[in-house]
Amino acid sequence: MKFSEIIGQEATKALLLDQHRQQRIPHAQMLCGPEGVGKFALALAYASYLLCEDPTPEGEPCGHCNGCHMTKALAHPDLHFVFPAYKGKGWPAERKAISADYLTQWREMVAASPYFDLTTWRSASGVESQRFHIGNGEADDIVQQLSLVSAQGGYKVVLVWLPEMMSEDCANKILKVLEEPPRQTIFLMVCNKPEMLLPTISSRLQRIDVPRLKTEEIRDALLSQQHGLSADDADFIASSADGSYLAALQQIKVSADTAEYFDMFTLLMRKCWMRDIKEMYAWADNIAKWPRQKQRDFLAYCQRLIRENFVYNFGLPALNHMSQKEAAFSRNFARFVNERNVIALTTLFDEAQRDIAQNVNSRMVYTDLAINIIVQLRA
Ligand SMILES: [Zn+2]
Repeated sequence: MKFSEIIGQEATKALLLDQHRQQRIPHAQMLCGPEGVGKFALALAYASYLLCEDPTPEGEPCGHCNGCHMTKALAHPDLHFVFPAYKGKGWPAERKAISADYLTQWREMVAASPYFDLTTWRSASGVESQRFHIGNGEADDIVQQLSLVSAQGGYKVVLVWLPEMMSEDCANKILKVLEEPPRQTIFLMVCNKPEMLLPTISSRLQRIDVPRLKTEEIRDALLSQQHGLSADDADFIASSADGSYLAALQQIKVSADTAEYFDMFTLLMRKCWMRDIKEMYAWADNIAKWPRQKQRDFLAYCQRLIRENFVYNFGLPALNHMSQKEAAFSRNFARFVNERNVIALTTLFDEAQRDIAQNVNSRMVYTDLAINIIVQLRA
């Protein structure tokens, strides 16, 4: 990761490079700030720079030395990642999860984008749990890693993502190594909520505050990164992202999902109206393959559109909250949602949502749903 790949944050880049130039790199520091502003990207670029064998005079990792190849693959033996984890399904009760167990998933996620949050990481790790933390076992691993000589004879960097999720046990165990790390060892922590850090830890860290991004920086990044946005859309998304590039990316994802939900909803209604059973089965097959959470989001979307279409019939636009595309569909469709079937239709989507949440066979849920919709549309 190069500094030039990071959006904005020029002041923090300069500050980090200055530390190095003056040979005054604190052995333990943390980048603090709101989510999605690029703290992790900064830490990763800095680590890449420190581990590069031949950094450029402009202050970038060279990009082609041995060290750069390894950091690029997120597999440098002197770059140790620490992040929250939790054991997967079916793990023995006594076995604790540590970062090293999840390096493959971690590398894949970071390579996709250095802008992510805990939700992104949970879903990338494949472990659905609210109990992610940096536990006791992690401390043993850190101490053990640092007892080894640096593989390349240079710096050793420990990059800790979300130290605020460290257990007290773990924190106590690393205090000593944090206070007096082996020579040329650098702790770089990336923290969203410094107020949640244990005081024993935060007092040992030098703090760098990373500010929110400027709206123009987000807009320019969105436009240069091929999201297929018009200048107007990029402006709109950037101005509502509140300085977080991650928030902007998430908004693009939501718009893409909504467009897909709209297509699936209209397809279902058309096929049900035409009683096209073969196509209805194909629809059910298709949607049953989506991740469960996405299915639930889709069903919630359907419920909203049913309600919007019912309200559309009142002829009071102020009561409707639809996009242009949705409203255009309602011009012809709204009359099929009326006082005779609106409750029944809403209940159908309710029940489908409940069944999906309870892991009932998705394909069966959607075929039932479609058949019942046929009946209701003719009501
Ligand atoms: Zn290099």
